[in-house]
Amino acid sequence: MKSELMMIKEKITGVDVSYYFICHRKLWLFSHNIQMENENQNVQIGRQLHEDRYKRQKKDITILDTINIDFLKKEEQIVIHEIKKSKKMEKAHKYQMYFYLDFLLLHGVEAKGELNYPLLNQKVSLELTDEIRLELEEIYREIKTIVSGALPDKKKKNYCTKCAYYEFCFCDEI
Ligand code: SF4
Repeated sequence: MKSELMMIKEKITGVDVSYYFICHRKLWLFSHNIQMENENQNVQIGRQLHEDRYKRQKKDITILDTINIDFLKKEEQIVIHEIKKSKKMEKAHKYQMYFYLDFLLLHGVEAKGELNYPLLNQKVSLELTDEIRLELEEIYREIKTIVSGALPDKKKKNYCTKCAYYEFCFCDEI
């Protein structure tokens, strides 16, 4: 029989983990299928960057019909790559990658992660540790609590104007 944590994990996505660090309201809206990402210019810029860079790599890999990663390389170990535009949300990017590494480990694959910031000419290498796995368990539980509760109140942050939900949250101010 599956543990409670396992059942929670199966419903969580990398985007959920990323939004947990960005904004709990955004996490709630996304997890309730209220999605506005296609219309957002910021998202379109990210998508263009994703198409224009690393052209020699086979991109948009889906693993076990569950997680979608930008590309992977087989070096001494499998390395999962995610292409990001800027480091403003670096913590969210890191934990999204840890989620992927945790998912793979759960299925018997030990992998490392690399965040690629081509516009900054930088990369960040990541490895999953026991401490981070414990931290992830707590994050998974908190995500479940947030998405099964009421819509969190809006709190204005400096990146709200770039968020796909900005008009939804602050239409009275536009
Ligand atoms: S606009 Fe701001 S408060 Fe609303 S979902 Fe986006 S980040 Fe959260």
